[in-house]
Amino acid sequence: MKKKRHSIDRREMVKQLGLGSASLALFPFTSSLNFSDPKKLGVALVGLGNYATRQLGPALRHTQFCELKGIVTGTPEKKPKWQKEYGIEDRHCYNYETFDQLANDPAIDIVYIVLPNFMHAEYTIRALKAGKHVICEKPMGMNAQECKDMISAARKANKKLQIGYRLFYEPHHLKLMETSQQAFEGRIKLIEASLAFDMARPGLWRIDKKMGGGGALMDLGIYTIQAARRAAGSNPVSVFAQAYIDDPELYKGIYGTYVYQLRFADNTVCNSTVSFSAYSDRLHVSRGNEYLELQPAFAANQISGLDTWNGEKETLEHAEFQQTVQMDAFAKNILEDTPVIASGEEGLIDMQIIDAIKKSIDSKKSVVIDYS
Ligand code: NAD
Repeated sequence: MKKKRHSIDRREMVKQLGLGSASLALFPFTSSLNFSDPKKLGVALVGLGNYATRQLGPALRHTQFCELKGIVTGTPEKKPKWQKEYGIEDRHCYNYETFDQLANDPAIDIVYIVLPNFMHAEYTIRALKAGKHVICEKPMGMNAQECKDMISAARKANKKLQIGYRLFYEPHHLKLMETSQQAFEGRIKLIEASLAFDMARPGLWRIDKKMGGGGALMDLGIYTIQAARRAAGSNPVSVFAQAYIDDPELYKGIYGTYVYQLRFADNTVCNSTVSFSAYSDRLHVSRGNEYLELQPAFAANQISGLDTWNGEKETLEHAEFQQTVQMDAFAKNILEDTPVIASGEEGLIDMQIIDAIKKSIDSKKSVVIDYS
């Protein structure tokens, strides 16, 4: 049977990362991105929580094609701190009431939505309507329908949309994908992808069903799903899932631990566990006695190298912040009008799989994934 290829084209990816064709074999990170006219696109961060503060702001200090120009925050005390730290002018500072006025701010080209999951679709669509390109954090929306609405809004506005999938641009992940497709000729049999952090606390929006949409499945499951799809080079056809409530007082209407098995058309299987009450961070891909493994695999800026069956750990040159490469790739997509790798369409597929996982948990049956 002919395998359905993943929608990401590897050559396109290498081109977008500014790497030469010799890099196709190795995918090293190099800073060979070079423009004679270094016009930097202006980025506005929306939601100045943990991720914006610890990762995106610092990463934007290193970007070549975009820069932090604006902020949107509902917490007035955060404004002066960010202004001082990043030299942001008053006229580029917004709150949630003035958000739509971004439409009149030509210094902002890209609006980066870093809000809780339930706000992603609304603010992405509003930013697109304001005539801005948008990066939206993962998971793209609360369900597949929201993702479809976001994609339509981007098309209607004729603006680009990227999902904050930093690992789509990370050299060890690219090498793993390359090897599993080239050296393994796509004939892998087993994928194990798990991610778990002990982070559930009372009041955390991530464990609120209405705000987070499904705890660790939405927050961490998205990584295991995209890694499985990219390693397999195709999309799974069905899923069987189970979920457990570790602490009924803490998890109301959602689960603490999710276990699921994705089955691909060629019977490749991916086993995954995601949880908010344990630790795991691992991607393992194998065929016969050969394997590729990343551990840690998913946590931001912690990947230490790629392990293989030869017993050698290979560490590739990489940027200090994965997000620098992700945001620069998007800025280049805009400047050169090229397709986005971590596109809304990629985010939609992941949400269609998550919707199927939820259905499988509820029905206690294997579910065929609906990609319509
Ligand atoms: P956070 O709770 O630290 O920050 C959320 C921000 O949203 C806060 O500044 C908060 O004030 C603001 N906010 C505005 N309206 C709100 C409301 N009604 N309720 C709650 N908060 C509101 O969360 P975070 O860890 O920064 O995550 C934000 C987004 O970034 C999430 O979608 C998350 O999945 C994503 N994220 C991505 C990565 C990654 O590696 N790509 C890592 C961490 C978080």
